[in-house]
Amino acid sequence: MSSVAKRRSLAVLSCVIAVPALVLGVSSASSGWAQKPAAQPSGAEAHDVSLAVHCGTAALDRAETPPELGAAYEAMFQEATQAGYRVLHSGGRAVDAVQAAIVVMEDNPLCNAGRGAVFNEDGENQLDASIMDGSDLDVGAVAGVENVKNPIKAARLVMDKSPHVLIAGEGADDFAARNGIEMVTQDYYWTPERWDSLLEAKKNAASVSGEEHGTVGAIAVDSHGDLAAATSTGGLTNKMVGRVGDSPIAGAGTYADSQFVAVSGTGTGEAFIRANAAREVAVQMEHRGLDVTRAAQAAIDRVARVGGEGALIALDHDGEFTVPRIGTAKYAWVTNSGDVETRFYRN
Ligand code: ASP
Repeated sequence: MSSVAKRRSLAVLSCVIAVPALVLGVSSASSGWAQKPAAQPSGAEAHDVSLAVHCGTAALDRAETPPELGAAYEAMFQEATQAGYRVLHSGGRAVDAVQAAIVVMEDNPLCNAGRGAVFNEDGENQLDASIMDGSDLDVGAVAGVENVKNPIKAARLVMDKSPHVLIAGEGADDFAARNGIEMVTQDYYWTPERWDSLLEAKKNAASVSGEEHGTVGAIAVDSHGDLAAATSTGGLTNKMVGRVGDSPIAGAGTYADSQFVAVSGTGTGEAFIRANAAREVAVQMEHRGLDVTRAAQAAIDRVARVGGEGALIALDHDGEFTVPRIGTAKYAWVTNSGDVETRFYRN
């Protein structure tokens, strides 16, 4: 089906389901935001970590996961962590390592970023990404891009080649295209899984359920002791056109300060923005003297406090790594000596 035909069929479906939704007084903007249980306390995940990545919440049930799907996650996490590790191992910078790891996950349709981005209410893909260099607190971000193959590269471009930190919409696509970033048509992001999720969300008149976040993130510490963080996402299934979440907002979904911590989050973007979640980890370390594990837990508790859910990954410059979460998360890390650990099953 062409993308125009797909969108037409979506328009028809929207009309059909809008009627019962109106009768019930349910709006797509309000129905996905039920109060969630508070975050469960979690300890430090690992020491001696040089880079970690996540691919959202909703870890898989081992018994119900086809072996090919498990193998695909394993391969993706191995590839992403090793892409980042190669940069670090050759003396490269944390900011380049996180970008390399994110590109791998953006190119993989398993995650809600790049190729596997979710659809908005009009059946289009609008992608957000950000990258932050903890050595000088520099940031680059794009929001609502529609034709960039790897939004993280466009975010990096904003950081390196513009006087701004965040460029949105058409201007961001144009800026990327003018600077030689690979562009794609919307069909590139079309996957049957994401399309089905959209139809399902329309049927339930809901935004994506809290169990389905698949944003990708990466954090790293390099041999110079610098930290960096990056996050990329398609946002929420069935989101309003033009909606921007936490992922491209420094301090909300992404944060890095080489003196303290690198953070990337996934979950209800609105709650992460309200809680200023990623920056909150650094605040807790800087002003309350907490270690990274307790500081990150305090930040995710704050997300829960405003009714959000999700997870974040956080890494300090000593390689202490933690993953506080509300529910479960899919993530992986690589140690200084190159050992990779993956965690994407819940049981
Ligand atoms: N945090 C992302 C957003 O709200 C969604 C996600 O993590 O899957 O855009």
